Amino acid sequence: MLSIYNTLTRKKEEFKPINPPYVNMYVCGPTVYDYFHIGNARSFIMSDIIRRYLEYKGFDVKFVMNLTDVDDKIIKKSNEEKKDAGAIADLYIKAFFEDIEKLKIKKADLYPKATAHMQEIIGLIKKLVDKGFAYNVDGNVFYDVSKFEKYGKLSGKNLDELISGARIEINEEKKNPLDFSLWKKAKEGEPYWESPWGNGRPGWHIECSAMSCKHLGETFDIHAGGNDLIFPHHENEIAQSEAANGKKFVNYWIHFGFLNINNEKMSKSLGNFFTAREILKLFSAEAIRLAFAQTHYAGPLNFSDELLASAEKGLEKLNNLADKVDEEIKKNNTTGNVPAFEFNKFKNDFENAMDDDFNSPQACAVIFDFVREVNRAIAENENISSKFFLDVKEFLQNTAEGVLGILDFSKSTVSSNDSISEDLINLLIKLRIDAKKEKNYALSDKIRDELNKLGIILQDSKEGTAYKRTKK
Ligand SMILES: [Zn+2]
Repeated sequence: MLSIYNTLTRKKEEFKPINPPYVNMYVCGPTVYDYFHIGNARSFIMSDIIRRYLEYKGFDVKFVMNLTDVDDKIIKKSNEEKKDAGAIADLYIKAFFEDIEKLKIKKADLYPKATAHMQEIIGLIKKLVDKGFAYNVDGNVFYDVSKFEKYGKLSGKNLDELISGARIEINEEKKNPLDFSLWKKAKEGEPYWESPWGNGRPGWHIECSAMSCKHLGETFDIHAGGNDLIFPHHENEIAQSEAANGKKFVNYWIHFGFLNINNEKMSKSLGNFFTAREILKLFSAEAIRLAFAQTHYAGPLNFSDELLASAEKGLEKLNNLADKVDEEIKKNNTTGNVPAFEFNKFKNDFENAMDDDFNSPQACAVIFDFVREVNRAIAENENISSKFFLDVKEFLQNTAEGVLGILDFSKSTVSSNDSISEDLINLLIKLRIDAKKEKNYALSDKIRDELNKLGIILQDSKEGTAYKRTKK
């Protein structure tokens, strides 16, 4: 039984989708004015792991992530760089897709853009105005929080607490300081759309209500996002959607914890601000994913070089086993022994961990126990049948690769570059030794470098030259 901690009810609940096996899931996506940072990467990766696990369990997940492509920050950047706001958004949408691909994040079924949903957004605001939940002041439309009785139910606070706790800009047009913008009147030089209230553009919160409703329905299963979005963003989404549709908006709310850098809050002013793109230059996607997965999604995560270095080290064991497994499968040994091994125990342990509110740290521990036990079985047995290695591979493919995304068999050193035969490599190694003897170091280096490009790494030692195949 899968249970999920629901921010709305503040307890772990059994997961029951509205229309199984279908699961509709919405995650707040990026505002595309810059490369996304490593804190955003945590939300994207953890929602990816959750989605992959739901799929592992046999659910048919429709996963939607919005792209906020009209926003104050985009307009600010477009003014600074003297570029069209649309061009800024396009540039960072492209970068977003490049980065999530590098992070091995499965593509969403849909990435709706705010600018492509103006009709739905305006329709929803109109509904709120007609029902008396919103008011227009000279072309600015605000949501009237006092009209929505349950305002504060997600963050668990009443209006007074919210007012005293929030940083609220003074705006004389608002009836209540917590009222928020649904439609912003166009200012000089800003992009705008026509509406019943004049030219303007939508507020951020209404975009998510309009797009999630269009693509996932008035009530859907899971809505996820960073902790910092609980208030006001998600609180406002609930107020908008439930007031307009008269129905419960979302059944399960999932929130990802904060990410600190070396125990400090990440900020540009502290100089400890990192984009996912920068981190990807230093560490593999698998290491970043493992570093994240080893902390529960809801808890705070302290990000550091040591954390990633230790993840890389952990992965070495996993990758070494994956290489060994592929090598043994290739031998196609059908007459060897099949060691006794409790595959089912590991499968159950993995599932029990993930069923418990996606306890990925525990699931990672199961994977590393599995690696250790398989290595022990290999050490203790001789002439092992390929069948055993096929079972090992199947387990790792389903769990470490399929759910956690911390292993990639296609990178295996064995399955790739088979086209270069062992004999040919040994011949080149011999030629290189001859070249060295003749002090033709330019040629010997060239042979080494060219082989390197083909994924063959030469390793010189006192005993001679060995080689290793790496990724494609
Ligand atoms: Zn949102």
